[in-house]
Amino acid sequence: MADELNAITNTRAQEQTTRLLTDELTDIMARLHSEAEVPKAGAVAGDFLDVAQGVEHQELARLSATRLVDRARRLSRALTRVSEGEYGVCTECGGAIPAKRLLAVPDAATCVACQSRLEDVGAGAGTRHDVGR
Ligand SMILES: [Zn+2]
Repeated sequence: MADELNAITNTRAQEQTTRLLTDELTDIMARLHSEAEVPKAGAVAGDFLDVAQGVEHQELARLSATRLVDRARRLSRALTRVSEGEYGVCTECGGAIPAKRLLAVPDAATCVACQSRLEDVGAGAGTRHDVGR
């Protein structure tokens, strides 16, 4: 377990993590650019159904763009943490995030315990404002 943790925090793993995060970020940026090329509703004079369909398509594109932007934001935050040597450290409790979790969720900023605590709070009283939702 300790070895696994060392493996993910050593320089070589850090470079790999950076590459992995950067690759995903580049991919998201490319997808965002293609989403942005959705034709504007009403730009072409058509009947009502064409326009309605166009609007619907735009809504969907906007929804997926929002998710992509959100993911891009998380990835770039993760990249910042890598360069500051804080990657793999829980932003809530300061504990080490298990290597297994980082492998599954490379942009994870919190350990499993803190994440589920945050989700409970988010779904419940809402004393903490929503982050990334
Ligand atoms: Zn934590």
